[in-house]
Amino acid sequence: MAGLCEGRVAIVTGGGRGIGREYCLMLAAEGAKVVVNDLGGARDGEGADLGPADEVVNEIRAMGGEAVANGADVSNWDQAKGMIDQAVSTFGKLDVLINNAGILRDRMLVNMTEAEWDAVIKVHLKGTFAPSHHAANYWRDLNKATGESANARLINTSSVSGIYGNIGQTNYGAAKMGIAAFTIIASRELRRYGVTVNAIAPGALTRLTEDLGGPITEERRESGDPKWVAPIAVWLASEQSADVSGRMFEASGNVLAIAEGWHRGPTAKPTKDPHEMGALVADMMSKARKNAGMNGMDLD
Ligand code: NAP
Repeated sequence: MAGLCEGRVAIVTGGGRGIGREYCLMLAAEGAKVVVNDLGGARDGEGADLGPADEVVNEIRAMGGEAVANGADVSNWDQAKGMIDQAVSTFGKLDVLINNAGILRDRMLVNMTEAEWDAVIKVHLKGTFAPSHHAANYWRDLNKATGESANARLINTSSVSGIYGNIGQTNYGAAKMGIAAFTIIASRELRRYGVTVNAIAPGALTRLTEDLGGPITEERRESGDPKWVAPIAVWLASEQSADVSGRMFEASGNVLAIAEGWHRGPTAKPTKDPHEMGALVADMMSKARKNAGMNGMDLD
């Protein structure tokens, strides 16, 4: 059976560990050539001290696939450009960019430092924008030069912490909700070039989450296997997903779902009198759907 991504060229940021590593392995197993980006690890190419990206590249090559490592910091403008260029110069084209790299600096709002805020916003938001900008320019140029659909895929990484909201993560949640908005807007902008843009809100037991959520039981380890997350990313990366864009997919061992976006709820007739607001808001509140909790359901 032909692979879902046969002949496609994909970049996975943060592909050396956790969910990104699984994306790389499954993409390669489905026939894609993969640029494995990861900040960590030695990049001098010598000795046995392999970085996470090199290890994933070696795993892919051992199973007969094609892959190359990239050590860019995704939040660095020029390095992000270099990563896109590397895919094209190595494999001749780029079809898929999966923005997955991420970090956590959890802290209650009152205790959060400026550095903790800045680091998270930089890696997630600029680290999504910079590679996406350079990839989108590549696809736009391709579309204009050939007159054909780029048939390309941009896949971002959000989180239930952002779209639903998790205590202790104002920085991370703001970034992840920002990525959700980025995804919807970019999907509308890039449609004309034949680029779909979707996001995944994953759940998996990784270095990022192993300290959260209590003891690691066998059940948690199984439902937290990143192998539950990778199939939606790989399918979105394939040509089969051409009609799906602007969507947010929740994916873990416990759930596969589409998270629905903000909609206008109950309305009231606008007034210039602030004294009328109390009654108007009370009426709208009585009719409005509650915000979702971390499980995606209405809060009690
Ligand atoms: P992980 O195991 O820590 O992997 C994240 C990867 O991103 C690491 O390999 C890290 O590289 C890389 N990275 C960090 N900053 C980078 C940068 N500036 N440039 C390039 N690479 C960078 O975490 P994960 O759980 O797989 O997370 C993957 C994504 O899913 C993240 O965006 C995360 O926010 C999101 N997410 C995860 C969960 C979950 O349940 N695990 C839930 C919601 C959202 P090095 O450390 O090697 O430098």
